[in-house]
Amino acid sequence: MILSALAPFASDPTHSRGRLFAQAAAPTRNDYQRDRDRVIHSSAFRRLVYKTQVFLNHEGDLFRTRLTHSLEVAQLGRSLARSLGLHEDLVEAIALAHDLGHTPFGHAGQDALDACMRAHHAEDADGAHNDSPGFEHNLQSLRVVDTLERRYPSHDGLNLTFETREGILKHCSAANARRLEDLRPNDVGARFLDGTAPSLEAQLCNLADEIAYNAHDVDDGVRSGLIDFEQLQTVDLVAEHAAHTLRDHPQLSGRRLLAETIRRLLTAQVFDVLAHTQQAIQEAGIDSAKAVRMHGKTLVAFTPSMRARSIELKQFLFANLYRHEQVLDTTARARQVVADLFSIYVQDPTLMPEHYQRYTRPARAAADYIAGMTDRFAIQAHARLTGHHMFASAPGLHG
Ligand code: MG
Repeated sequence: MILSALAPFASDPTHSRGRLFAQAAAPTRNDYQRDRDRVIHSSAFRRLVYKTQVFLNHEGDLFRTRLTHSLEVAQLGRSLARSLGLHEDLVEAIALAHDLGHTPFGHAGQDALDACMRAHHAEDADGAHNDSPGFEHNLQSLRVVDTLERRYPSHDGLNLTFETREGILKHCSAANARRLEDLRPNDVGARFLDGTAPSLEAQLCNLADEIAYNAHDVDDGVRSGLIDFEQLQTVDLVAEHAAHTLRDHPQLSGRRLLAETIRRLLTAQVFDVLAHTQQAIQEAGIDSAKAVRMHGKTLVAFTPSMRARSIELKQFLFANLYRHEQVLDTTARARQVVADLFSIYVQDPTLMPEHYQRYTRPARAAADYIAGMTDRFAIQAHARLTGHHMFASAPGLHG
């Protein structure tokens, strides 16, 4: 069934909880369209093109980057939203913004920055600041859109609607939620404390993110040669769709076999989510966006059997790709780059651009500055400041 109208449980921009700074409506665009456009025009969005998803940006031109990953999440998200009658513009805004707070070097960069911030926090004498002790990319994505983008004459940040900001903060610890609530009560941290649910559009982006990276990491993993198609046959979800593909196209091999298998695997997951979510909404008697929030539990979800298969695929990727010797080697170098940059900038904040020297806490300044870097900018800054070339094959770093 193809629905074109907004369902009664969709987010409606005319009922938005609004922006941090009040603003007149745009003449030709709804508020969520406007949010999406602001995200696309932000500097943080442009930097995603040079940030790692799994493989470093310079390792190959065809691997996903944070930018192409975000576009794939937006595509899957919009497709699901249209079928469910949810607001496509809101889904697109959230999907395009969801990774803006990612550090260079993917999770390796985030883990290193988190460790640096925690160690620094533990020995921080003043202790009076109301800041998270570590570094977390969801919180940082919110920070990017609320504070770090500097494009408007009268305020910091992009001044996005509550609903887009809520979707960007997809996870948050209770301690961090309390910090956010202290700063701005009854805002996007509240749901992590009171047990309400986010909009269906936010829930949908979470799942679209997961569907997208599982599928594209299989593709990139095989392309890189770190995992092979034979090995993947131990994963039910892949084996099933590879078998169906070969049943329909017995001659197929190589890249076309992989591409068709992944296409079918994506389609199966999308249909599974649609059927299960429609049923969950119906069974819970959800008839409004407010009812979604009060229901508290996640409604956009896989069936239990697809959930189990998705977990199996995730575990395979973790063991065979993310923990592959070659990936771990890159990861170790990336951690070193981030850790070195952090201690250098905290010791001498004048090595950072002027804006970051005005922070009261050099650790927070260093975290914001480093998190905003692209892979190659971080590699080059590190080589310049330490004289060590951690990635000999990086562009511009030969010899
Ligand atoms: Mg993502």
